[in-house]
Amino acid sequence: MFGPTKEKSETSANIAEVDRILILDDAPENCLLVERILKKAGYGDVISTQSPETALEWLGLQGKPENKKEISLLLLDILLPGGMNGLDILRTLSSKEEFSDLPVIIITAIHDTQTLESAFELGAIDYVTKPFDAHELRARVRSTLRLRHEMLQRKQRERDLEEITDKLSEAYQTLLRVSRTDGLSGIWNRRFFDEILEVEWKRACRSEKPISLLLLDIDFFKKYNDTYGHQAGDECIRKVAEILKLTARRAGDFPARYGGEEFAVILPETDSEKALLVAENIRTRVQDLKIPHEASETSPFVSVSIGISTRLSGKEDKEPKNFLEEADKALYKSKEAGRNQSTIYS
Ligand code: GH3
Ligand code: MG
Ligand code: MG
Repeated sequence: MFGPTKEKSETSANIAEVDRILILDDAPENCLLVERILKKAGYGDVISTQSPETALEWLGLQGKPENKKEISLLLLDILLPGGMNGLDILRTLSSKEEFSDLPVIIITAIHDTQTLESAFELGAIDYVTKPFDAHELRARVRSTLRLRHEMLQRKQRERDLEEITDKLSEAYQTLLRVSRTDGLSGIWNRRFFDEILEVEWKRACRSEKPISLLLLDIDFFKKYNDTYGHQAGDECIRKVAEILKLTARRAGDFPARYGGEEFAVILPETDSEKALLVAENIRTRVQDLKIPHEASETSPFVSVSIGISTRLSGKEDKEPKNFLEEADKALYKSKEAGRNQSTIYS
């Protein structure tokens, strides 16, 4: 048993002000007695009623919502007058998630083991027997409330942890997205392109399905900058990137800024014929933007040259290095042949 001094200081220091204890017992003298014992032990907020209806109203289970009180512990007599007994109340409480944190201590006559068993099955946490032993009552109330506090604290810690984990994973996702995105154009950057090319190359090896790659380069872009200024050049890069995003939009298609005024598009499961269609689609859509380019020697508007490489499966090479080089060579051919055109590597 705990000594009265320790008990008092402990309860009044950290429990008494926050915990409200509700007693439901049809005998007013029992209510008074329990109230007195607990108040003496330092629990400042003890309320009692002999009416199950009032108890239900305070618990927020019936009547006006504004009469609901926050309850930390329910001391519940089993035998009550009228239609409802303590077990019925327990049953109601146990069926509602919102009461999962509300401990219930049963007040019962000493020999009533059958009822006790039912009460425990319905979620009662402990019991006290009549006539009351003040020490026992205090000890049980205190340990029950301490258990509840620990449980609430643990739940709060779990919630905090969950929140932190969510925030971290959100931040990580944002960081990942930012680190993979090209700041100017908003499409994927070179670093992520290299990663994805590796992945798609391996996938092509396994699946033995074709894979194609487009390399694009804006024609006479140095002249464009010289004529219209660097900022207009940036705007032009953004518009071309937008066309890539709009055109290469089949699942798995991967448009990226390769560097400077160059772009790349990975086209998984795409043969050269279909890759040429995509390339030509991009090329004509860039032309259709009709961005004036008076210094261009190939078109009055901004244009792109495209190189295409295709492999029937990634199996021929361990790495996509040659695959990339072939697209680059095809791009060079497009440039040599007068620009504003697409060439398949052969
Ligand atoms: P070609 O038709 O042979 O491709 O000629 P080009 O002038 O486009 O090629 P070159 O490689 O000589 O010039 C590329 C230019 O692209 C030079 C560079 O200043 C410009 N450039 C590269 N990155 C950016 C950028 O982020 N913004 C702007 N405005 N210009 C860029
Ligand atoms: Mg270039
Ligand atoms: Mg260029």
